[in-house]
Amino acid sequence: MFDLSSQLATRKDSGLYRNRMTSNSPQGVQVVIDGREYLSFCSNDYLGLATHPELIHAMGECAGNWGVGAGASHLLGGHSEPHEELEQALSVFMGSERVLLFSTGYMANLAALSSLVGRGDVVHQDRLNHASLIDGAALSRARLQRYPHADMNVLAKQLESGKGGRRIVASDGVFSMDGDQAPLTEILELCRQNDALCYIDDAHGFAVLGEQGRGIVDSIETCSKDYSGGHLLSMCTLGKALGSFGAFVAGSEEMIETLIQQGRSYIYTTALPPAIAAASYAALKVMMMEGWRREKLSSLVEYFRTGCQQRGIPLLESATPIQPVMIGDNDRAIAVAETLKHQGLLVFAIRSPTVMAGSERLRITLSATHEEEDIDVLLDALANALEDGGSA
Ligand SMILES: *Cc1c(COP(=O)(O)O)cnc(C)c1O
Repeated sequence: MFDLSSQLATRKDSGLYRNRMTSNSPQGVQVVIDGREYLSFCSNDYLGLATHPELIHAMGECAGNWGVGAGASHLLGGHSEPHEELEQALSVFMGSERVLLFSTGYMANLAALSSLVGRGDVVHQDRLNHASLIDGAALSRARLQRYPHADMNVLAKQLESGKGGRRIVASDGVFSMDGDQAPLTEILELCRQNDALCYIDDAHGFAVLGEQGRGIVDSIETCSKDYSGGHLLSMCTLGKALGSFGAFVAGSEEMIETLIQQGRSYIYTTALPPAIAAASYAALKVMMMEGWRREKLSSLVEYFRTGCQQRGIPLLESATPIQPVMIGDNDRAIAVAETLKHQGLLVFAIRSPTVMAGSERLRITLSATHEEEDIDVLLDALANALEDGGSA
């Protein structure tokens, strides 16, 4: 008999069972979930673009002209003008020779890693990397070497000791559970010295970091050269700060062409709906025009951090909208999240083994659509819940 019940029961017993909630409202600071209203601190819609009228209009208009489904894969007739326009605009924006659109960031990571390396090659990965990077490496059949979080000494040793074959160093740009940023300058330098490719997954940095919102690569002055020189390839998602859906990889002509030719999660799947590409294009334009969103977000991050400091709420070092409040125990993290939920605040507990045992936390995310008053409410509730041990 094909039995799954004991496996599910084990998950339940060890407190790892996950439950979905159903929203009765669009993304936003105020959400309705299972019929109750909450002030939300768990969305990746960092700039508040998911419900922006320009995006909604662009999507509706494009659907009117192009229909809903792309109807085929990109290589077999599904690639259309709206896709092409978005790719052109993104490549100009990123300063890379070319970009390639994907239906999701997960698929982009699978395609990139599995088509650029294979047996006999090595993928070096930060221990805190996103699951999709780990899965991409597994699919590639290259050897996976992980290094302790942001530890450049270990990475340097790994790169020096590896011989033969191609090497990729893959890292999150902004780490999704910790909110800190990869030491990109150092990683890139090590890659240049060792003829390795730096592959950066900037799902949480794109449209949030950098003067114009180019993300973590904005900190690299030679970025365009690194792209065209084949030292740097970056992946950004359109479903987080851009409020839309999809992802893209930016890099050299040759890298992108390789992904088109060999990326199985690019080739063997239906193209993104054109209307989604149009919405993403509108989002890119709004993001570029409305720099105030990024500025406001960063001032809210400051405000939150200062408030935590004043109230003795323990945070990790993070300058991004991902602000983990450290709890240090699964049951307590869940209890604190539950307490906040009773007070109408939506915050998720991140438990081990998703994060290391002892570093269980609440993952708070801020958005440009929050106001300081919203953050005040959260800060007071957090301080109280932590004092009560989350047992209220
Ligand atoms: C969300 C995320 C992805 C996946 O992107 P999707 O477009 O949601 O599939 C990949 N990497 C990181 C670091 C992410 O946070």
